[in-house]
Amino acid sequence: MTKTSYNPFENAQIQFDKVARTLGLDQSVCDLLRRPMREFHFTIPVKMDAGGTKVFQAYRIRHNDARGPAKGGIRFHPHETADTVRALSMWMTWKCAVVDIPLGGAKGGVVCDPPAMSLAEQERLCRGYMRALYSQVGPNLDVPAPDVMTNGQHMLWMLDEYETIAGGRYPGVITGKPVGMGGSLGRTEATGFGVIYTLRNLLNAENINIKNTTASIQGFGNVAEYAARLYTEMGGKVICVSSWNQADAAAYTFRKKSGCDISELAGIKDSFGSISKDKAKALGYEILPGDAWLSEEVDILIPAALENQITPGVFPQRSKKVKFICEGANGPTTPDCDELIHKNGILLIPDFLCNAGGVTCSYFEQAQCSVNYFWSREEVLEKLDRAMSNAFRAVYDLSKERGGIHMRDAAYIISIKRVADAVKLRGWV
Ligand code: GLU
Repeated sequence: MTKTSYNPFENAQIQFDKVARTLGLDQSVCDLLRRPMREFHFTIPVKMDAGGTKVFQAYRIRHNDARGPAKGGIRFHPHETADTVRALSMWMTWKCAVVDIPLGGAKGGVVCDPPAMSLAEQERLCRGYMRALYSQVGPNLDVPAPDVMTNGQHMLWMLDEYETIAGGRYPGVITGKPVGMGGSLGRTEATGFGVIYTLRNLLNAENINIKNTTASIQGFGNVAEYAARLYTEMGGKVICVSSWNQADAAAYTFRKKSGCDISELAGIKDSFGSISKDKAKALGYEILPGDAWLSEEVDILIPAALENQITPGVFPQRSKKVKFICEGANGPTTPDCDELIHKNGILLIPDFLCNAGGVTCSYFEQAQCSVNYFWSREEVLEKLDRAMSNAFRAVYDLSKERGGIHMRDAAYIISIKRVADAVKLRGWV
């Protein structure tokens, strides 16, 4: 029977338990690592433009900070739950560990619907978030960043609120800030580019020329757009992109068999990644149902939207041509589908490796902020490519060494071991 609903935190724990067993970790280490160390649940009252006050539910959850200050984005989403944030905080720990940056894992979230809010309301929400959390963030404690439906402007409002309270300038409190305001060049494109750096390395390792490949992408937010840009720059062809349409509360797949023009699509999307149907039609795109991206005849699938998108229920719809899956989103594949993917010989670059480019560049941003000296875009991207390529190589090699195990398991083995060693060295267990 196919499950119809999935809890991301349970998924994250299932993935952890599987690898923890094979690593033979002490029970106390497992008990510590299979759930967050600290959680903040709070409400944010916001004065709305139309009068009256709306109270928003918010979270900041710190999974583990044994390897360094906790790190992770803040999501604004109407379906945010404590369990989603718990799962995402746990994945941040593994993400920082797999790229070997000295940071732990955390995540934040607010249950809200930004496209339905004015900019002034969003600003008050951001400032309220930071006021509530002021004593629990900081460059050496916990450092937020953007995530789904948050951007550099949101980060800057939060930073400004922090600095107003603190009475000084503390740019290392938050990352993903606009360039010129403590942000790093390359940060906007870092997550999407990181996805393609890992894909390029996988294709090289498998002796496949990227120029002979095609891809289908779910999502057209920041991660998907920049992944699509770099992939097409390297010679790959994106056949379709699926994006959420706010007005229709539905997703649509935009297809061009001759290859999508990513700049063209970016020119007709709104700031939340919704592509205009009318304008796309006028530009010659076919408009198909939202899930059509999955069944397209392509070599590579790039889910870069939300969690729980590739399940045993929909997996059989994929084209048999698909050989690679790059998880741009966090948690897009459910654990009960991992086995099917592996059995079908599809190579999957797991989320916490594939999309680690964002946090890696956030780490660079913090390093630059701490000395108030900023690097060129080339320098940032070169360092990013090196970090992603080293991490990919370690995971790929381990997967081969162990007889072709799923790359998700190989990545978990590396990360969990690093974090388990850190909690032991600190004498916590
Ligand atoms: N939100 C991004 C992620 O999920 C970036 C986190 C960060 O830069 O701290 O990896």
